[in-house]
Amino acid sequence: MRDLARHPELLSLNTATVRERWTLAQIIEGCARHGIRAIAPWREQVAACGLETAVGLIRTHGLRVNGYCRGGMFPAADAAGRARALEDNHRAVDEALALGAECLVLVVGGLPAGSKDIAGARQQVKDGIAALLEYARPQRLPLAIEPLHPMYAADRACVNTLAQANDLCDALGEGVGVAVDVYHVWWDPALKREIARAGRRILGFHVCDWLVPTTDLLLDRGMMGDGIIDIAKIRGWVEAAGYDGCVEVEIFSARNWWQRDPDEVLQIVRERYASVC
Ligand code: ZN
Repeated sequence: MRDLARHPELLSLNTATVRERWTLAQIIEGCARHGIRAIAPWREQVAACGLETAVGLIRTHGLRVNGYCRGGMFPAADAAGRARALEDNHRAVDEALALGAECLVLVVGGLPAGSKDIAGARQQVKDGIAALLEYARPQRLPLAIEPLHPMYAADRACVNTLAQANDLCDALGEGVGVAVDVYHVWWDPALKREIARAGRRILGFHVCDWLVPTTDLLLDRGMMGDGIIDIAKIRGWVEAAGYDGCVEVEIFSARNWWQRDPDEVLQIVRERYASVC
C-alpha cells in the first residue's frame, strides 16, 4: 500500500464539506492555502460562482478536478419528466467538460413521486444512464455510478450496492464506472469481492466516517477516524483493484463540521487523511 502521508497530492476536497461557510471561490483559495491539490465541486456552487469564473479560478490555482457532483436523478413519473432529467444531465456533462473534471458522479435517483415500483425505478435508471452515455461517451467523459446506502433508496438512489453498480457497468459497457464511497458501502458483506470485480472501473474513492449513533440520515457524517469504518482496509482493497486516483473527503455535517471555521476543518482533514485513510 502506498503511504498516503507521502501522497498529499491525492487528497481531494469534496466542496460540500465546507459549503455552509465558504463560497466556491473561498474554497478554492482555502485549498490552495492548505496544500490541497484536488477538488470535487457541486453544480449549485459552480452555478453560484459562474461557470467561467470557476474554470478560471481552478486553472489559476492549478487544481485537479477529480469529479463533478452530480448528475443522475433519472426516474420520473412520465416521459416528459425523464426527458427533462436527461436534458439536465447533458448540461452537467457540458459543465464537467468545461471544468476539466475526470468524471461525472451519478446519484441515480429513487422512486418517482407516488410510485411503489422500485424495480421500475431501477429500469428507468438503467435506461437513463444508457441514454446519457450516448452523449458523454463520444466526448470521453466517464460516468461514475455511486451506489448509496439503502436508507436512500426511496428518495436519492435506488442503486444501493456495489454489486448492483457493477452489474450496470457490465450491461452498459464502455464509458461508465463506479464511485466507491465508504459511507455507503462499508456494511456490505460482498464489498471486498465487488471492489475486486470493479477493478479499473473504479473512478472515485470517497471517505468520511459512520458515527454511532448517527442522528441524521443525510447530514451527520463523521470525520475520518471518528466512527467505525475501517477506511484504511477498504482503501487497500481499492488500490489492490488498480485504483490510483484521488481520496476525496466528503462530509455532510450540519451539527458539527459545517459549524466550524473552514480553515480548521481543512487542517483536520489533512491530518486525518495522513493518519487514518
Ligand atoms: Zn460520495
